[in-house]
Amino acid sequence: MRSLFIFITCTVIFCSCARTDSPAKDFTPAVSNLSVALGDTSFTIQVSIFDSSSRLIFVHIHDDEQTAKNATHRFLEHQGGTLISIQNNGERLITFPFNGRSYTFDPNRMLTRKGIIESLQILQPFDEKAVPEVERFANSLLQKIPAKSYVIAMHNNTANNYSVLSYLPNGSLQGEAEKVHVSKKMDPDDFVFTTDHRIFNGLQKRDISVVLQKEIPATDDGSLSILFGRRKIAYTNIEAEHNHINDQLQLLEAVANIAAK
Ligand SMILES: [Zn+2]
Repeated sequence: MRSLFIFITCTVIFCSCARTDSPAKDFTPAVSNLSVALGDTSFTIQVSIFDSSSRLIFVHIHDDEQTAKNATHRFLEHQGGTLISIQNNGERLITFPFNGRSYTFDPNRMLTRKGIIESLQILQPFDEKAVPEVERFANSLLQKIPAKSYVIAMHNNTANNYSVLSYLPNGSLQGEAEKVHVSKKMDPDDFVFTTDHRIFNGLQKRDISVVLQKEIPATDDGSLSILFGRRKIAYTNIEAEHNHINDQLQLLEAVANIAAK
């Protein structure tokens, strides 16, 4: 009897330990690969729905930023939501053939006409015939984002370059920020950029580095944040240095927690 009691006690302890180790929720994605025309070729936009009842939509635009993608997957597997990503062979810039020429642009500069033109001008001799091709591709991506979703873009950056400090007075992007909170506890490359006052206030309270975009930013760079800012839609961008996966996941969990309230 005593040994039976010990056996049952051990089993209960083992089961409760096992339950703690494996998360209560576990979502497996339904993945759709959608072929989208661009010039004389096509690219795949992948939509991975982990939990369709969540209004969180993650957008992964730069295919070389794998830390951001992996952090998003880790979140989605346990919390749910949807990931929309551009498949580009692990490259940041998109290159496509059109009418015997090759064109390259930055996909996070394709969300406004000005951004498209500037991106094409920087990367090759400009040819306006490429603009409507990129515009159509950008619209295809936007059409995949359901109405009433909460959009979070996931990005990575390199050390000592673009960071939360870029938005401080005398920083290269000071004209884009309404407010900036810099946490002394964090690497400046790991931060959140948002158009959403709730996210800014909530993260500032938790001493997490965060930038609130100006209602009318100084520069139209054709990024998702400019587009959503103009449309007055809440939008948040989570930045972390390459390989800072745990930091990026923590930022994501903090943002999702505030967005859900
Ligand atoms: Zn990026």
